[in-house]
Order: sequence, then C-alpha cells, then structure tokens
Amino acid sequence: MLGETVITRAELERAVEALARTIEADLEGRDPVFICVLKGAVYFFTALTQRIRHPMVVDFIQASSYGATTESSGTVTLIKDVTVDIAGKDVYVVEDIVDTGLTLADVVALLRARHPRSVQVVALLSKPSRRKVAVAVDFTGIEIEDRFVVGFGLDFAERFRNLPEIREFVSDGEATP
Ligand code: 5GP
Repeated sequence: MLGETVITRAELERAVEALARTIEADLEGRDPVFICVLKGAVYFFTALTQRIRHPMVVDFIQASSYGATTESSGTVTLIKDVTVDIAGKDVYVVEDIVDTGLTLADVVALLRARHPRSVQVVALLSKPSRRKVAVAVDFTGIEIEDRFVVGFGLDFAERFRNLPEIREFVSDGEATP
C-alpha cells in the first residue's frame, strides 16, 4: 500500500530544474541525443527535456525488467530499441532510478557498442547504498535511502506511475517489490 510522501511535487520540480541548468551548461558544442529509458523515466524525461534550451534529438529505449526476486542477467533484452543512429552523437541516457546499477550498465554497454561520441547518464533518483556495479551516473537529481518508491513514472506492478509526487510503497508481505 501507499506510504508517506518521500519527495513532493515541488521538490521534484526544483530537482528537474537544477538538472536542466547543469546539463544545459554541459551541452555547449554538443550534438545530443536524449534517450528515455521506458517506462519509468517518461515523466521525468518530458519534464527535463522541455526545460533544456539546446537543439536535441529525443528517442526511447525499453529494456527487459527483471522480476521481484531475480536481478539483471548482465545481458539486457531489448523490448524496444532506439530508432536513430547514435554514431558520433553525444548520448544522454535518462533513467528514473539507479538501484543496483545492473540495468543501466547493460543499457550503457549496448549503446557504447554503436560508437557514439560520448555517453552520459542522467538519473532522477539514485540509491547509492544498493549499488552492485560501478556505473557512472553523471547527473543525479536526488539521492534516496533504500526504500521502494512509486510515482512520477515509477510503478509497482504497473500502477502508481501517474502520481505527481514520489511516495513510499510498502509491500503487504506477499511479493517483495
Ligand atoms: P537496477 O538495475 O539499478 O537495480 O534497477 C533499476 C530499475 O529497477 C529502475 O529502472 C526501476 O525500474 C527499478 N527500481 C529500482 N528501485 C526502484 C524503486 O524504489 N521503485 C520502483 N518503482 N522501481 C525501482
């Protein structure tokens, strides 16, 4: 069930605005492709990219999500690939949350194999205490402690994505999210 609010709508807006300003400064002279990692990042992605005043191409990628008890196999399965050629481009991978880092490491490796000029990662949320693989997150919005959260794109069993704030989700004791 839904627990307390962890990050309010106003705090999210401030975090997105701060990220947009930092990224804008990094974009000087770059030819960027912003890639949204579906589905969780979609609310963050639209908020962020609209605040960045720099020409860009946007695209979408969806990797297989692993279930409640298993974790990434280390080889990502693509559900939906990007449609643009990223060779020679400056890629910004936009993620909702970096937890163990396994999903992100897979996605970054897959994109790097296509010879972009650079790959950087933007994450709205990060749980540093849970990291299993060292994956560079170049731009982080808000660091949170190890609790399962939903809202602003993040789901539990495909629900709660449309909540405008980030709330804790407390499992009823059955499946661990
Ligand atoms: P990682 O590979 O870093 O362990 O997992 C990243 C993915 O796990 C995220 O993109 C997200 O889909 C999911 N995830 C990790 N932590 C949370 C959380 O607190 N809430 C929700 N809803 N999803 C999470």
